[in-house]
Amino acid sequence: MEQRILVCDYCPGARRRPAVARYGLTNGRGIVPVATLDLCKLHQGQLLRAFKPKGKQPALPSSKEALAERTARVLAYLKQHPGPHRRSQVAQALQLKPHSVTDVFRRLSPKQVKPSGVGRMRAYEWRA
Ligand SMILES: [Zn+2]
Repeated sequence: MEQRILVCDYCPGARRRPAVARYGLTNGRGIVPVATLDLCKLHQGQLLRAFKPKGKQPALPSSKEALAERTARVLAYLKQHPGPHRRSQVAQALQLKPHSVTDVFRRLSPKQVKPSGVGRMRAYEWRA
């Protein structure tokens, strides 16, 4: 009898479950897959788990999201803790690297924070 529904290429034997999706493997150079698999729900889950990266890649410090997140944290800290704060205090409180705090400080608007001091004594204060 002719098979009319797609079945899973990974199910063994005669009781192959119906496929829910076709996955294609490419070498990244073309859109034509070098291999395809029709998979049932169960085997689709197994395949997708295999494609989950195991090593967590840290966010790039220069990425916009990371900077926006750090900026929000620094602003929240300054708002909650009145008075001028130096970068080392903020870095320690938020467990950030001092240079990342400097990076955030440099980009803050004078409308948001009030700077004071110079050089290493540079401090920023929430402008209420
Ligand atoms: Zn299967």
